[in-house]
This record gives sequence, structure tokens and C-alpha cells, in this order.
Amino acid sequence: EQILDIDKIRKDFPILRREINGKPLVYFDNAATSQTPTQVIDCIVDYYENKNANIHRGVHSLSQIATDAYEAARETVRKHFNAEFAHEIILTAGTTHSINLVANGYASVLKPEDEILVSAMEHHSNIVPWQMLCQKTGSQLKVIPMLHTGELDMEAYKELLNANTKLVFVNHVSNALGTINPIEQIINLAHGVDAKVLIDGAQAAPHLKADVQALDVDYYTVSAHKIYGPTGVGMLYGKEELLNMLPPYQGGGEMISEVTFEKTTYAGLPHKFEAGTPNISGGIAFGAALDYMNDIGFEAIAAYEMELLNYATTEIQKIEEVEIYGTSPDKKTAVLSFNIQGLHPYDIGTLLDKMGIAVRTGHHCAQPIMEFYKIPGTVRASFSFYNTKEEIDSFITALKKAKSMLL
Ligand code: PMP
Repeated sequence: EQILDIDKIRKDFPILRREINGKPLVYFDNAATSQTPTQVIDCIVDYYENKNANIHRGVHSLSQIATDAYEAARETVRKHFNAEFAHEIILTAGTTHSINLVANGYASVLKPEDEILVSAMEHHSNIVPWQMLCQKTGSQLKVIPMLHTGELDMEAYKELLNANTKLVFVNHVSNALGTINPIEQIINLAHGVDAKVLIDGAQAAPHLKADVQALDVDYYTVSAHKIYGPTGVGMLYGKEELLNMLPPYQGGGEMISEVTFEKTTYAGLPHKFEAGTPNISGGIAFGAALDYMNDIGFEAIAAYEMELLNYATTEIQKIEEVEIYGTSPDKKTAVLSFNIQGLHPYDIGTLLDKMGIAVRTGHHCAQPIMEFYKIPGTVRASFSFYNTKEEIDSFITALKKAKSMLL
């Protein structure tokens, strides 16, 4: 068993040394965005100090150096997710961009009789683009319901699938609850009716290593800022034949083969979907972030985060009036979504912040889940491998204090 050296890991994250409101920062908002290690920050600095040039079109050496670094990062991403080809990895601005790219493409593919399924526990970025798509095509959006346990109703899912189902959209891990969804089964069942599946991997990527070929998933999306990389960069994986079939999302430079005023022909993959100058340093740093995580090891990360989650769950349950939403810890990632009866999550979050503890409060961009539980929102503490049991102790103490101040 691999044991993490947490003291050493914490030294990699300069921000963990700072104070907030005069207290040491306890950062439990990792599901919203993760912190950035020196190795990734250095990579961005190195880009601007030593490699900065536009990519893919310059004949000069610096442009070649930048291009090589960018394409090396694409290869790192390909290897990490085990895609067959590097050109199946589209570097985007993040999950939201990736999903919109696919949704836009299907506007010219779907027909009014087609149905698309989306789960009840999606982030708004995996709901709204499909609603916009349905408005364009007249297709029907149907919802895979969830159960009170915070899991998807798989029986209802099976009943919803039919010959008209063309697309299924589910997150690998729910950002609001942490539920790990049974995506293998979801994908297999969808393929049984010839539907394609997009898995939103934004919340899974920090905790699990997805193998897109083993999963046989059609599309998979990730945001680098949730996996210790920079904001504004991410990935769309798509099977080659599907990406070839979809029309481009944006027009512009870099995505063309030939342009005249009569007609433009598009570049091949991945450039067809990468119009304009991309976030070059961000793409390179995305690769560095994956290298950083792989150096630590995903099994060790998952095991330690589970330890933190189990500990936090046990400790928080000792506080009366706490209600936890979602599954038992063994079926989710390191997310604790809860409320204290009689208190508004926002008030709890505000008091915790005064004590240096950063948690998320509200609907977590997943309003349908809150509607399901009939609550205005939750307090969400989400843990990363740089967090410690001592920080959880501080959090529990602060929570008790907040409760006594507010109740
Ligand atoms: N899906 C899920 C499950 C998420 O957690 C998030 C980020 N909160 C997104 C999509 C959107 O990602 P981004 O804002 O990086 O585009």
C-alpha cells in the first residue's frame, strides 16, 4: 500500500500557507476548483519565460518549441485517459465548452422524433446546452430520475431507453453529492439501443482514472482546474468517427484547410474543433497537472481521500441536527453535502469563512437536486489529498461554534 507524505505534498501548494481572516486557510472547496502545485505554476511561468509563441503556424524555432510542448501535453492527456489517438483529444476551455461543442454539433444531426436523456443529478452545464439543442431540433429531453439515496434510478433508466433515444448524458461523479454513477452499465445499456453517451467527467477526474476505450464511452469531458491545473482549459474526448461526423463549433483560424470567399474546407481532427489561438500555457500546464497526479498515484490519492471522507462523516454525525445528503462514503468521492436543521447553508458558510474554512454553499449549479430534496441548498465540504484530519477537526469545531451562534 502506498502511503502519501502529506507534509511534503502540502509544501507543493503555496496557497496552503496563507491565512484567511487571520486564520490558517482550510480549503474544503476542492470540488469547485482545486489548488495549484508549484510544479504546475512553474510550468506556466516557464512557458512565458522560455517558450511563448503562437503554435501550429510559425516556421520559426520558438513557434516549433511551443507547438511541441502543446502537442506533448495533448499526448499526456491521451495517455492518461487511454484514448486510441491523440486527435481524439480536443483541447477546450473546459467541460462547459466541451459539452456545448457537442450539443452544437448535434443540432444538424437530431430530428424532432429523437429523444435525449439527461440525469436528474447533472450540473447545469450538462442540462442547459441540451435544452438549447432541443429548442433547435424539436427533439425531446427526458430525465433519468434519482433516488433518495442520491443514486440514479437505473430501473427507470432502462424503461426510458428506446429506439428513438439518440443521446444520453450523465456525470461520472455528481458535483453536489459526490455519487459515483455506474457509467459502465449506463453506456452498455445505451449502446443496446444505438444511443451515444456523453459522460461529464469533471468531478471524477480528480479521484478516478477513466479509461475511455475500456468504457467504450462516446464522449468524455474534463476541466483542468479541478485536477490541479489552471482554469480555462479542459478536454473533450470523442471517438474519431463521431468527431469526424460532427460539424465544427466555431469558425476561424487554425481550423481550416483552405479558405476562399466561395467555400472553406475544414482541417482534420483535432484542429477542426480548435479555432483561434488556444490557451497554450494552460494546455501545457494541464499535461503537467496530470503528470503531478500520476506521480503521486491515483490509488493512493483515492485511498487517502476515502480515509478523510470516512473520518469527516463519522465526526460530523456526532453533531445533532446534521443531515447528510447522498450515498454512504463507499459509493462516492470525497464530498460531504449536508445541512444543519433550522439553519440556512449560506449562514453556516459565512461563519465558517470567518474562521478560515472555505466550503461551498448553495445549489452547486445543480438546482434539480435541491428541488428533489426540497431544500434551498447544502453546505458542501469536498476534500483533496492535501487536506488533513487536523483540518477536519478544525472544521468540526468551527461547525459546532457556528451552530451554537446561529441556533
Ligand atoms: N460538470 C460538473 C459535474 C462540474 O462539477 C462542473 C464544475 N463545477 C462542470 C460540469 C463545469 O465545469 P467548468 O465550469 O470547468 O466548465
